[in-house]
Amino acid sequence: MKKIIILVLTIISSCTSLKEFPKEQYYSFIYNFDRTFKNDSVYFHLKNPLMCPINIQLPKDSLNSNLDILFGKITLCKLQDTIINISFPNFSTTSKEKYIVKYGDPKREITKNKIGLPFPKGRKYKIIQGFNGKFSHNSATSKNAIDFSLKIGDTIASVDDGYVVGLIEKYKEFGTSKEWKEIDKSNYITIYHPQSGLYSQYVHLNYNGAIIELGDYIQKGQPIGISGMTGYTTVEHLHFNVKIPTDRYGLISTEYEFENGIKADKLKKGDVVKNITQ
Ligand SMILES: [Zn+2]
Repeated sequence: MKKIIILVLTIISSCTSLKEFPKEQYYSFIYNFDRTFKNDSVYFHLKNPLMCPINIQLPKDSLNSNLDILFGKITLCKLQDTIINISFPNFSTTSKEKYIVKYGDPKREITKNKIGLPFPKGRKYKIIQGFNGKFSHNSATSKNAIDFSLKIGDTIASVDDGYVVGLIEKYKEFGTSKEWKEIDKSNYITIYHPQSGLYSQYVHLNYNGAIIELGDYIQKGQPIGISGMTGYTTVEHLHFNVKIPTDRYGLISTEYEFENGIKADKLKKGDVVKNITQ
């Protein structure tokens, strides 16, 4: 009897610790922009650290009203750096240096191509949730996502050639309470596909589950990470999504098609998908 009680207590305590909401906040990529002031002008030293375009704006700032409007929206090409000079005589240096940085150039034309499956050839997985799934595929950023039944430790592969432009792999916890829904602290990889203009995302990776690095060039079918169960979930799986950049909302979910006649929009819970790529 004593053994059973100890076992039960162990299970409860391990579950509790796993579902703790992390205090840490990790980011897909880090940028360091300087802001200097000289001769009544503000100089913004902007540098894109990524192999994809980024779009930069300033938030509204009560100490420097209208500076955000004068700054406008700046799009930088991959790895581009520049200095923006804005005449602003009463610039307050006490305001914090903040920027709104979004992926992509919303003006770029997207040429959708058929993509591979996000796991290695020969493997097959069940669909847990498809397009417009009620649990979590119901927002502009997630409506065309698909959940595949990858187990913790299974290999994730890139669906097309491209560059790694986002990477988080330091979270360990998971949960589905309110706080997780509001701020999803998942590990994930974002890959930019320059030929099509699409971005693909692979979510819920294991702790230290990326086997590639930010900036790496990745080929279609190449293993990129280890699946896991981090962030807004209590089921081990891979949340796969394809996105396009928009002016207003940054990356949003978009429809896509897999190769070999697999219709992504028709996949539903319980279907089995096999990667038959040669
Ligand atoms: Zn999902």
